[in-house]
Amino acid sequence: MVKESNVDVLIVGAGPAGLMAANWFARTGVNYRIIDKRSSEIFAGQADGLQCRTLEVFQSFGFGDRALKEANHMLEISFWEPNADGGLYRSARIADSIPGISRFQQVVLHQGRIEAWFTDAIRKWTGGRGKVERPVLPVSLEIDESKVEDPSAYPVSVMLKTLSENASLPEQFGAKVANGLFRQFEGDQEKYYKDGPSEDGDLELVHAKYVLGCDGAHSWVRKQLGIEMEGESTDYVWGVLDSVPITDFPDIRNRCAIHSLDSGSIMVIPREQGLVRLYIQLRETPRDPNTKAATELDGNKGKEAQVLEKGRVDRSKITPEVILSNARKILHPYKLDITDVKWYTAYQIGQRVSPAFHKFNRVFISGDACHTHSPKAGQGMNVSMMDTFNLGWKIAHVLKGLATRDILATYESERLQVARDLIAFDHKFSRLFSGKPALPGAVSKGEGVSLDEFHAVFEKGNEFASGTIVDYNNSLLVDKASGQPAASADGTPVSISPLATKVLIGRRFDSAKVVNQSDAHPWHLCDRALSDGRWRIINFCGAFKTHVALNNELLWLGQYLASDASFIKKYTPPGAKVDSVIEVLTVHASKRVETEWDDFPLAFRPRDAIGRMDYWKIYADDESFHEGHGHAYEKYGIDPAVGAFVVLRPDGYVAQVEPLGADGVKNMAKFFDGFMIAQTMPSRRMDDEIETYGADSYGRPLLAV
Ligand code: FAD
Repeated sequence: MVKESNVDVLIVGAGPAGLMAANWFARTGVNYRIIDKRSSEIFAGQADGLQCRTLEVFQSFGFGDRALKEANHMLEISFWEPNADGGLYRSARIADSIPGISRFQQVVLHQGRIEAWFTDAIRKWTGGRGKVERPVLPVSLEIDESKVEDPSAYPVSVMLKTLSENASLPEQFGAKVANGLFRQFEGDQEKYYKDGPSEDGDLELVHAKYVLGCDGAHSWVRKQLGIEMEGESTDYVWGVLDSVPITDFPDIRNRCAIHSLDSGSIMVIPREQGLVRLYIQLRETPRDPNTKAATELDGNKGKEAQVLEKGRVDRSKITPEVILSNARKILHPYKLDITDVKWYTAYQIGQRVSPAFHKFNRVFISGDACHTHSPKAGQGMNVSMMDTFNLGWKIAHVLKGLATRDILATYESERLQVARDLIAFDHKFSRLFSGKPALPGAVSKGEGVSLDEFHAVFEKGNEFASGTIVDYNNSLLVDKASGQPAASADGTPVSISPLATKVLIGRRFDSAKVVNQSDAHPWHLCDRALSDGRWRIINFCGAFKTHVALNNELLWLGQYLASDASFIKKYTPPGAKVDSVIEVLTVHASKRVETEWDDFPLAFRPRDAIGRMDYWKIYADDESFHEGHGHAYEKYGIDPAVGAFVVLRPDGYVAQVEPLGADGVKNMAKFFDGFMIAQTMPSRRMDDEIETYGADSYGRPLLAV
């Protein structure tokens, strides 16, 4: 008898995408399982760059400090170009992360450490449960279409097979040096499936409400859904080597983009513990003529087939020595030796994106399973984690009965666009990096890649690569109509409210420093709006001590929030804390020392059943004793004499900007009505209150508290 079980979410694949999803589910208390076919975590190599937005997200889960302590901080990029004598010169230096774009700058560290922070966080949230089950892989997947719209059903059935330790050992442990070749080219996927199911004892039939395919570029889950990637392979082959260099090249501890005249290009990435990663274009690579089968396996046609006429790269012939000898030619006349080789790999750039990210919004694919591209821009791991960062809280909302299944459609509508933008960026970037450079004057004659264009794409690319300018489209979860169409600094169409002129609706909310009203502690506002599954309304109530109208609005809002009309109460399950679904944080612009906490109605600083007050909900935009003034209102473009409500999604993206007062409250209530499920009945709306109790001279309902 095959064992059978039910689970709310089954995650296939415990790379960065799968672990981010598991982390959300662990944090929000969702019943999930996560499996991986590999018998152990990775210990070296693979991805290494953590972008600004990813660090903000890590901070919001409570382990941003680990990245800052353990990783190498990469602050500068140097560009090196060929001169006419065949030498190299440094043509420019710029900041690696654009100054002011985030409170964090890019850091680098091998992927295994990053995955370890997730597993530690998951252990903390689940008390040791929720671990990755290894070595386990799915062997069949079926969806019962008749049940997909029933929220309580388990319509996806997946047969799992537990592998033997031997079968699941990645090849990287077989060689003297850890290498990533097992993961590249055709991957190590197929060998498991050739074995086929064995003993019944190895098998388990899992019935799941949702399945996440986070199983990498050769995704088995994607293939079960019948989704074929779109895109192409290029003919550029790159080697990657992690080692400690011994060299006279002066910028070895900077990120460098080096173009040689005839020998290709190198990207230098300074890493933790004195390591340096070299990304090297391999000009001469041994090919394997026997690669047609691999083409068919990948399901790629057209361009891929042309590229493969020469055959895929013969990976067995790529060694650290081959990579090093290419590197020496590019760096000439500088000298290069290496020691402490930790990891190496080689890859052929494939730029592909999946045209769909889900089936019935029940089975989703994320990460490399739906987009692949070159690793040099440090995007794959970051974008993969951001996929499931986008999806995890939405599934949690639906499973907890807080929101309708309609919100799940926004996963594809939001992330597919990001994936397409990423491939377009990578296309341009790789071509410029891999092409032969033009010497000054040669571009006009159509010879070689313009290095000026390369610098421009690089600088612009850094903004994109930071992950901070992702702009989600109008949807159930982003009310762009609460702002007005405008153009961002680079001309991209965006939505901005005149009430908060530097807050872009649909983008992540950037952090500013504010001071706690009760104990003078300076905080980054985003550190008070953590990723815990809750929505936030930031009540920028302005300089209410000196503006009577603002004070009036504040007192009314306090009454409203305490009344049965409150839409926040409507979406809060009976018996749960009043801030457990939507939390109100207040940031005022009056002088902190001239303000007392009882200037704020109790709704803004609630007490629990035994009288303990929450002192961490009211902040001043004011000078702190030791860390200066955060100028939050200025940073967000909010007038302290007018104020605004800013609604943040559980993932920290700006959903709505509204005016203070009853109109703003009505608009927020309408927004949440679009997808949230009422928890408390009977709920009263503001219009009911007006009908029952009448309105004041501002047209606001007189509330029964
Ligand atoms: P993966 O990391 O591939 O994880 C997939 C997981 O699923 C694996 O653990 C695998 O064992 C498991 N799995 C696969 N199939 C099955 C199955 N059928 N059943 C069960 N489990 C399965 N990205 C960056 O952001 N920054 C960088 O600096 C960077 N540098 C890179 C350098 C190199 C040399 C390479 C090769 C990649 C680099 N990347 C970088 C890309 C990055 O590694 C990937 O984009 C990222 O790992 C994708 O994460 P993922 O979770 O989607 O997939």
